[in-house]
Amino acid sequence: MNHHPKTPYSVILKPIGPLCNLGCNYCFYLEKKRLFQNHEVFRISPKVLETFIKQYIESQEIPEVTFAWQGGEPTLLGVEFFRQAVGMQKKFANGRKVTNTIQTNGILLDDKWCEFLAGHNFLVKLAPSHKHSPFSKSGTDDKEEGRIR
Ligand code: SF4
Repeated sequence: MNHHPKTPYSVILKPIGPLCNLGCNYCFYLEKKRLFQNHEVFRISPKVLETFIKQYIESQEIPEVTFAWQGGEPTLLGVEFFRQAVGMQKKFANGRKVTNTIQTNGILLDDKWCEFLAGHNFLVKLAPSHKHSPFSKSGTDDKEEGRIR
């Protein structure tokens, strides 16, 4: 990216493509798997991830840069993936504040995840409030979001 826009912008990251541990019948994204060749590796490589993080931060002339993580289901990548990503953000922040949001179905969120997300102040968007989610009260499709404390 050689372009340096003055207007803030955001990119939604899908670091594991359309892979998900649920199969909601209203999902518009799971079918995107068919666009890829067999044996496609959906997981973003460390090199591409680092290049993106560096260029995304450098291309924005604002004091705070926000990363939005989505899937499929991004928690399938594991906590260590996000720990590395946050480390890369710090490496390239160059004095700027970096914030993160993550959209998840919540299925895999255990104590380890919650400690990580709270420790790095992620804004967590639970969507959908799926009936299998440990956080779902109603089984509706309403989104809920907040920070884990
Ligand atoms: S949890 Fe989200 S990404 Fe996964 S199948 Fe349901 S709607 Fe699609």
